[in-house]
Amino acid sequence: MTTTAKPSAPVAIAKHIYTFAEGSAAMRDLLGGKGANLCEMAEMGLPVPPGFVITTETCREFIARDGSLPDSFWAELRGYLTGLEVEAGKHLGDAENPLLVSVRSGGKYSMPGMMDTILNLGLTDRSVEGLAAQTRNPRFAYDAYRRFLALYGKVVLEIEGERFDTLLDAAKAHAGVTSDAHLSVDALKALVTQFKALIEQESGCPVPQDAWEQLRGAILAVFRSWNNERAIIYRNREQIPHDLGTACNIVAMVFGNMGEDSGTGVAFTRDPNTGERVFYGEFLRNAQGEDVVAGVRTPQPISRLYDEDAALYDQLTGLGQELERHYHDMQDIEFTIERGQLFVLQCRSGKRTGAAAVRIAVELVEERLISAQEAVLRVSPEQLEQLLHPHLKPGSDVTPLARGLDAGPGAAVGRIALDKERAIEMHAQGEDVILVRRTTTPDDLSGMLASKGVLTAEGGRTSHAALVARQYGIPTVCGLGALRIDDDARTVFVNGITLREGDVITIDGGTGDVYAVALETEAPAVSPEFGALMEWADAARRLRVRANADTPEQAAIAVRFGAEGIGLCRTEHMFLGDRLPSVQRAILATDPEVRRRAIFDLLPTQRADFIGIFEAMADLPVTIRLLDPPMSEFLPDPVQLLREIIDLMHDDRDHPGIAARETLLAAAEGLHEVNPMLGTRGVRLSLMIPDFVEMQVEAIIGAASHVKRAGGNPHVEIMIPLVAHVSELTRIKIQLDRVAQRTMAEEGVTIDYSFGTMIEVPRAALTAEEIGREASFFSFGTNDLTQGAWMLSRDDAAEYIGFLQQNEMVKIDPTASIDRAGVGRLMRICVEDGLRANPNLKLGICGEHGGDPSSVQFCHEIGLHYVSCSPSRIPVARLAAAHAALGDRERDK
Ligand code: ADP
Ligand code: MG
Ligand code: MG
Repeated sequence: MTTTAKPSAPVAIAKHIYTFAEGSAAMRDLLGGKGANLCEMAEMGLPVPPGFVITTETCREFIARDGSLPDSFWAELRGYLTGLEVEAGKHLGDAENPLLVSVRSGGKYSMPGMMDTILNLGLTDRSVEGLAAQTRNPRFAYDAYRRFLALYGKVVLEIEGERFDTLLDAAKAHAGVTSDAHLSVDALKALVTQFKALIEQESGCPVPQDAWEQLRGAILAVFRSWNNERAIIYRNREQIPHDLGTACNIVAMVFGNMGEDSGTGVAFTRDPNTGERVFYGEFLRNAQGEDVVAGVRTPQPISRLYDEDAALYDQLTGLGQELERHYHDMQDIEFTIERGQLFVLQCRSGKRTGAAAVRIAVELVEERLISAQEAVLRVSPEQLEQLLHPHLKPGSDVTPLARGLDAGPGAAVGRIALDKERAIEMHAQGEDVILVRRTTTPDDLSGMLASKGVLTAEGGRTSHAALVARQYGIPTVCGLGALRIDDDARTVFVNGITLREGDVITIDGGTGDVYAVALETEAPAVSPEFGALMEWADAARRLRVRANADTPEQAAIAVRFGAEGIGLCRTEHMFLGDRLPSVQRAILATDPEVRRRAIFDLLPTQRADFIGIFEAMADLPVTIRLLDPPMSEFLPDPVQLLREIIDLMHDDRDHPGIAARETLLAAAEGLHEVNPMLGTRGVRLSLMIPDFVEMQVEAIIGAASHVKRAGGNPHVEIMIPLVAHVSELTRIKIQLDRVAQRTMAEEGVTIDYSFGTMIEVPRAALTAEEIGREASFFSFGTNDLTQGAWMLSRDDAAEYIGFLQQNEMVKIDPTASIDRAGVGRLMRICVEDGLRANPNLKLGICGEHGGDPSSVQFCHEIGLHYVSCSPSRIPVARLAAAHAALGDRERDK
């Protein structure tokens, strides 16, 4: 799918390995997040099993050497292994007292489930017997062995994991049990035999019976997993560099599968869905490692642990609080209970929904753990977007088909897809998709990302599906036990109802409800914490944020979202609807006087439009763009006209409607341009037929006068579109200024108005010094500027841009995020030259990029005064502007 640069071979590395005592949380670059935090927790005196970390640098060396490691490394490893054996009082591969270890991946940034880990390493046909005798628990020993064989087979020998699952399922069926925890020792022994046979058959060689050989294989496989496909996709998506490499953690095993007094679990120090300060998590009795996350059995809520063993529960929550205070953030903790004794195996900043991110950040400030500025940086603009995710409209009386677990955030409506391939395909066809699976694995990520929602039959609130839901804001319902999926028939069956792939369903990640129909959704209400966070963001930012709003209703919404003005009020709609006949009469007129009269028929209604907008915006600035599209847009499509004429003639050759249509058709033909978007529009049309914009300016100034007389204080910025040459602006400005002055005289009111231009033609950006002398403001119209710079139509570009991105020829989609090297360079030149000519020049952006966080960052960097975006994106832009001002570089992962 994609290639990654190979780092050059480093000079001989002196130290490849650090014990937990040698490392610390500050060493994330070298030890990875997991390794560094294990060291830190050991240092804090928390119950972490002993172990050591092989550095990320070693992984880079491994890649540079095409998949091998030098003898010096293996010698160093022997030394550290001996140290671990002494600490644990056991020996790797020993027949009587075997040390077992886990071999775990973990890079600088957490990439949950993307790379590999092997548990119970060190078990052989001999040592498994030793373990059984030593623990007097053969069931446990063989459970550990079958787990090891499956993981080793999958990760080191690259045998499909499902092959092992199938055998396990068959063993359970044969024994008549539903849970792997109920398999007898004999059943587990049989499974071990089957696993070994499968491995030999698939890989041509048995699993090494020498534990040291196992360890070598596992370390190499963990390093290899840095560049497996799903890890690469994940890093592309998260913009994590491909050359960091993963660390490899060797940790003495502790066992949650030793019986009912043992277990394993995952906990969050606060609710990752809502942010509420409650201990949140799940655990499974008699289980190991991935069982909770993989969703093989649906786990119990952590509160059950309190009922069963309050002291242990208190120890766990106390430990969580200690970690929170230490790291100043909500933590995600992996723990294992071995015969009543608690161990921590991992901690990291927990992934959370947008709502939780906001609440946690604000409450951490209240708890005096972080500053307000830090809180602003803790919430990403993307998370804020999630917060504004649609919810189900209340008041519907449709009964849900079933209820699963609420994995958040918000609701989604879409068509059922049963695998990732189908989900991606349907998404590409423009469908909204709900991916429905038994469970999801990291391999399903691409399909999940193409879906509006995810529904799974198995797995709890900390399952992979739930984790992805939180991170990417994909509404998810998991653990819907009643769900049966038939992959062959392509149907799902729930509570007596059969649905087909392609059928529409609604899922509510907030409640866990699933509906067999499409329900209506709406934007959610915002919380008080949201208000607090936005206030801090506003205090931090320099860029102002305006809205693109065309009507009083949109303007009112924009003000509610915190808009500080309108950066783009388009006026096209003021010529449509019931106003269209006047416009068409003007276009058809041959006599200039008749034309002018037709156009000025629109004056009263346009004046009323502007009054509404000025009233909504009170004393905030309003930038109004004068008429932009070509005339042909106001006439019906010629082909459509022709069809109608033919139809009418067919009925009646003398039908009275024919003549009118023929006139329109002739006009449309007369106005036909090969390339209307590059044709007579914007200032060009205004210069050729000034009546339209003269009427508009009279309406604008008249409306402003009306509002001012009533006690208002409008600030009007009149924006001329599509200027390429300064003389265009100069000439139209003289004409329109005359209209403005005359209107003010007639109204007897002085209005604060100015003329400026949209910068959307590359030539304008390059001649900004001349244009800047004539304009009071520039507003970058980056939609057209990007089209012009790339000579690429936005409407048709999606497929080609997709091609460029897939082949890693360009990183960003220039229609979504400002292309800094090209379009951005034009903007920089324009800002610099424009300000040289006119130091008072006001600078803004009104293209869709104005609501894109990375583009906002860029606008901040080049010194614009404001960004303007659609009303619903205003909070996102405010936060992005604050991040830019706070110089946020390091993304919090
Ligand atoms: P991931 O990064 O996918 O979470 P981990 O390396 O954390 O992978 O390990 C996978 C699972 O195995 C986790 O549940 C972890 O707690 C468990 N695990 C890892 N090492 C040990 C160990 N030494 N003893 C017991 N369980 C372990
Ligand atoms: Mg883990
Ligand atoms: Mg334009």
